[in-house]
Amino acid sequence: MRPLLFICAALLFMPAKFTRAEEKKTAQPAADFVLVIHGGAGVVGKDELTPEQEKASRATLDAALQAGHSVLARGGRSLDAVIAAIKILEDSPLFNAGKGSVLTADGTVTMDASLMDGATRQAGACADIRHVKNPIDLARLVMDRTPHVLLTGEGAELLAKEHGLPLMPAEYFITDHRKLQLQRVQQREKARKAGDKKAQINPLEAIGTVGAVALDKHGNLAAGTSTGGMVNKRFGRVGDSPIIGAGTYANNLTCAVSGTGHGEFFLRSVVAYDIAAKMEYQGVALTNAATEVVMRKLTEAGGKGGVIALDAKGNVAMPFNTEGMYRGVIRPDGKPWTAIRKD
Ligand code: ASP
Repeated sequence: MRPLLFICAALLFMPAKFTRAEEKKTAQPAADFVLVIHGGAGVVGKDELTPEQEKASRATLDAALQAGHSVLARGGRSLDAVIAAIKILEDSPLFNAGKGSVLTADGTVTMDASLMDGATRQAGACADIRHVKNPIDLARLVMDRTPHVLLTGEGAELLAKEHGLPLMPAEYFITDHRKLQLQRVQQREKARKAGDKKAQINPLEAIGTVGAVALDKHGNLAAGTSTGGMVNKRFGRVGDSPIIGAGTYANNLTCAVSGTGHGEFFLRSVVAYDIAAKMEYQGVALTNAATEVVMRKLTEAGGKGGVIALDAKGNVAMPFNTEGMYRGVIRPDGKPWTAIRKD
């Protein structure tokens, strides 16, 4: 009896290591399917978000959830559900991705996106994109049609052209709202440089990066993120969103993660992969891993933002250390749940 107890105890405390057999097991049909999305973390005070704007944003989140749900409900891949949801948000002028992206310091739009398949650990990403209507489609092309993971600028847009992705003139992406926002931020920056201590600059006032993570009926996870980056960013700046492991990560053995927040901090803390690594090496459950990385490590490092995270059992975690994070979840019953502030 004693040796048996000892073996049971040893098995219980053994660090989680994943074998090929377990890897296969995670690809067994899951009981459920789940889609989780975000529309950015940051400041969501009454001045920044009127009730009408809130209603419109939530309706768009609902539409994105429904688009991904219809892919998953018919047995489609998590990767396709993530793309379907993100494209709705990229096409909406309300979010900081695709149309409605924030503006760089010189008034232009440059976009980044990435995608990862948890079943194969294949990934694709693009950065410094100016004309591709849906950068998430280009991330998919990089993954499927090239031996590379990340393509930037002209080279990435050439790939889009070669494969007939819709391209748009630069003006398509620029909205009046983003022009005013840039003016406001630049005026405050000027005032601060002139010594006005009250002129605060909040790097996350331009909330709205988008992302999605999904678990399909086949038990496969996927993650994707798309953004215009941060308002008033320097020409050439690339954040965490197109960087696999920082803003996006997916692995059937652990979890799928998409981040939003101050990209420089997410890059230095390798946030998305850190959550997966805690699960893989320490056997920590999803919620604890995501909470520890965002609420303790990222916060202590001075980084603001949040993540959506999903494991292969359908557990969901959505920690954020900002005033709010646009977020939503949909499960097989097809009823979308959305929230913006802390609930
Ligand atoms: N993480 C994005 C970036 O730094 C911005 C955001 O999520 O709001 O480019």
